[in-house]
Amino acid sequence: MGGTDRRKERERSMVHTLVLGAGPTGLMTAMMLAVEGHRVTVLDRDPSPPKGGAEATWSGWKRPGVRQFPQPHLLLPGGYRLLAAEFPAAVERLVGLGGSRFNMISGAWDVGETGGPQPGDDRFETVAARRPVLEAALLAEAERTPGITVRREAQVTGLLTGTARTAGRPHVTGVLIRGGEQVEADLVIDASGRHSQVAAMLAGIGATPHEERAEAGFRYYTRYFHSADGMTPRPTPSPICHHNSVTIGTVPADSGTWSVTIATSSRDQELRSLADIDAWHRAMKLYPTEAHWAEGEPITGVTAMGGLESTYRRFVVDDLPVATGIVAVGDAWASINPVFGTGMTMGFRHAALLRDTLRMVGADDPVELALRLDDATQKNLEPVWESITAWDRHRLAEIDAEMRGEAYSTDDNDWNVDVALNIARSKDPAIVRGLVDVGGLLATPEEALVKPGLAQKAVELAVGASRYPDPGPTRRELLAALAND
Ligand SMILES: Cc1cc2nc3c(=O)[nH]c(=O)nc-3n(C[C@H](O)[C@H](O)[C@H](O)COP(=O)(O)OP(=O)(O)OC[C@H]3O[C@@H](n4cnc5c(N)ncnc54)[C@H](O)[C@@H]3O)c2cc1C
Repeated sequence: MGGTDRRKERERSMVHTLVLGAGPTGLMTAMMLAVEGHRVTVLDRDPSPPKGGAEATWSGWKRPGVRQFPQPHLLLPGGYRLLAAEFPAAVERLVGLGGSRFNMISGAWDVGETGGPQPGDDRFETVAARRPVLEAALLAEAERTPGITVRREAQVTGLLTGTARTAGRPHVTGVLIRGGEQVEADLVIDASGRHSQVAAMLAGIGATPHEERAEAGFRYYTRYFHSADGMTPRPTPSPICHHNSVTIGTVPADSGTWSVTIATSSRDQELRSLADIDAWHRAMKLYPTEAHWAEGEPITGVTAMGGLESTYRRFVVDDLPVATGIVAVGDAWASINPVFGTGMTMGFRHAALLRDTLRMVGADDPVELALRLDDATQKNLEPVWESITAWDRHRLAEIDAEMRGEAYSTDDNDWNVDVALNIARSKDPAIVRGLVDVGGLLATPEEALVKPGLAQKAVELAVGASRYPDPGPTRRELLAALAND
């Protein structure tokens, strides 16, 4: 093939994609597709970040489209590795904005039998930053990537359709923006997050995707801190530690800032007083492993966030796409209880799956594209969503039992193994690494825990041990401290 033919072939395979949403998933998708030579237009309803560094971004960026924008966001090692491999300049940008290098296993190095740093532990590294700062770095990198146009204050309100590619299924050819403008594309990618309205827009053109919504069931009480010397506190054995009735998250961030979150069941009315700053601090003092994280200079009050739904949307029903020319990635596909911090990493992986699918089948056969992406999503991402959804059900039932003063028991082996692994985390160097491989979305539980025999070993090590390995109060002691003002 001569140079001109190659150029024509390349132009034929170039696709104009519209990405709805400039969150982490939308930006990663845009960059991955632009690097392939596709033309990408990203549309987001919210305004641009203010000019300035991390502090201007943190305090001044208005993002009504993302309710969780000020909440703690840790990019897991799995997501970080993908970002660093594909877009090292984005990582440099993030570090330039104050992002701090953090090894997710470092808090476990001097605990119990875990035996200090080992070769290979560098796989647990990430760069920590507050969400606005992380997103500003991604946005700046996307905006300098040739082929990408990011349009802000461009809210998508409807879908455009053209000639159907398969009988009885509408074919999406673009979107309608608030104000009436129409934008056409070869492929529309919904990355508009957990509150995506695209399922309703699809219903408006006669397509009915499969959609599930359930109350996620947790409530988060978060406070941010800052240190004068730019250091973050000594890491806890794990960024999330479970206790009777609560889970505590200690999340490092950029520029000497960090956050502490106490997560409760939404049903737990007695713990609602954690929204009170003094009560929150009295509670934190009861957890010796995490208490020092609440001793910095506060930069926020305690923000309470609840009422989250876990969502799941599938555009392939009965083995056929409900509509062609449109796919969903990231939270727009599925979202869950965020306590494990999987969202951005799942979104990055979804972006890579879409890029690979488009590479394989192009956009000329939109039915095949939709089916292949759906298949890859089911195989690679759905198991994570399912396991966290199952974990949520058990954890909420466990907290319900603790509210009644009872111990929780179930014959669900997956939950019992999970509890055993958490107990045995500090008793064995291989178990803690297997756990961080899985928790960091670097490996599946089958690869990192079941096949190497670590799940079984954990069950043996956990016999007779207390449910929660990190010290903390009983529920009665916690309630007494909250009441004691
Ligand atoms: C409390 C909390 C804590 C979390 N902590 C973590 C964590 O530690 N680590 C982690 O990885 N994840 C975490 N997450 C999850 C994380 O927020 C998301 O999974 C992640 O941001 C990926 O989201 P996304 O880009 O798919 O969607 P979003 O971040 O929701 O972005 C969607 C974008 O679409 C835009 N948009 C919406 N509707 C329209 C429209 N009609 N037209 C145009 N634009 C539109 C929005 O403005 C937004 O910019 C947390 C979530 C919550 C709720």
